[in-house]
Amino acid sequence: MSPLQNALTQLKKAADLVKLDPAVLEILKKPKKIHQFSIPVKMDNGQTKVFDGYRVQWNDARGPFKGGIRFHPKTDLNEVEALSFWMTIKCAAVGIPYGGGKGGVTVDPKKLSTTELERLTRGYTRALKNDIGPEKDIPAPDVYTTPQIMGWIMDEFSKIKGYNVPGVVTGKPLEIGGSAGRGTATAQGGFYVLEEIVKKMKIDPKKTKVVVQGFGNAGANMADLCFHAGYKIIGVSDSQTAVIDKTGKGFDSHVIAKMKEKKGVVDICDCDDLKCSCKDHIHITNEKLLEMDCDILVLAALENQITKKNAGRVKAKIILELANGPTAPEADEKLFKKNVLVLPDVLANAGGVTVSYFEWVQNLANYYWSEKEVFEKLKKIMVENFDEAWKIKEKNKTDFRTAVFALALGRLEKAIKARGWA
Ligand code: NAD
Repeated sequence: MSPLQNALTQLKKAADLVKLDPAVLEILKKPKKIHQFSIPVKMDNGQTKVFDGYRVQWNDARGPFKGGIRFHPKTDLNEVEALSFWMTIKCAAVGIPYGGGKGGVTVDPKKLSTTELERLTRGYTRALKNDIGPEKDIPAPDVYTTPQIMGWIMDEFSKIKGYNVPGVVTGKPLEIGGSAGRGTATAQGGFYVLEEIVKKMKIDPKKTKVVVQGFGNAGANMADLCFHAGYKIIGVSDSQTAVIDKTGKGFDSHVIAKMKEKKGVVDICDCDDLKCSCKDHIHITNEKLLEMDCDILVLAALENQITKKNAGRVKAKIILELANGPTAPEADEKLFKKNVLVLPDVLANAGGVTVSYFEWVQNLANYYWSEKEVFEKLKKIMVENFDEAWKIKEKNKTDFRTAVFALALGRLEKAIKARGWA
């Protein structure tokens, strides 16, 4: 199934549980607005290339649209729609005053020079100049988009307006209004959720084996946090390869630091060769990584990684979704029957948008907080909403994703009715 079909299946299941007003369901099933456009970019060789760009504004009942921008060769409208819908649920699930939106460009940014990437980003911003803004729609980073890219968006939008508008985008560099803590916020939020589960299940981190799929902002920071909390990281992957530990002790601090520094997993033994088999670790396929014998599987790459095909072979007891939509609904059912606890994306990765919200608040107030303050506020939001959703899960004997959706739908229904839309 496509990401959007998956998202709407999840919506239907939770809507049935909370007996959502059918009019509210109809509103939530559709995006409010879709922007689809082409972006001509003058390449370094003088030729012009035209890229497809999207911004989907799903729902703004609870506040301005909010959500990242993805630059990826496989990004299409269906994916951006699904991600935009999930943002609507996520912002409601953690109770921050935003709706949901998402953007994307179909492009392989690794094939562009820095100057080409900048021209593409500025073109994307110009195409949306009337549709984004601190009161309307606030983009942020997602897969293969960085603080630098957010800086270009802020600059281009500010040039169009004629004055500085830091609150048009979040995830910016600190020097132009970024928030302390935003760089690691997604992983940090996921880690707070994990800590709550660890307390409930009386898990000893030192005896707990963790596998991390995806080694970018979300995955690499999560591996780092888990490692420093004493967990054994026994396997990691990126888009090129997966590497697993052969020692039985988990990767050591040297390897973890090296992976983060190199922003990838392939370089950890200095061989730059996917077939190499070093003394302490070995390369395997990305598919096999997901089926490893471990306690916690962190999914931090892309959608549809656990499907009905491989769900039966997953050995982890807990799945932590830092990626958006990594588990398909049919896989969810199989995992629930197997007693695997899925900590769903719409809560587990909400640390990113929550600190984005803090960044926007700081931009509007022009008053900046320390990292300590940011993480204290983040922890409170993550833990309080975890608790509320967990109560719904226990009361209804349902899976945790449906419980988090139910929490979000309750808030969305109230806002939609308060505005008189249904
Ligand atoms: P990123 O661009 O920093 O990193 C993406 C990583 O995924 C890279 O290491 C890449 O090599 C890897 N990857 C790509 N395809 C892969 C595959 N098939 N198998 C294994 N690894 C693969 O992106 P990110 O910001 O870390 O985003 C990762 C996921 O987390 C996405 O689903 C994103 O929507 C979600 N997310 C990110 C944030 C955030 O603040 N960055 C917030 C919420 C959710």
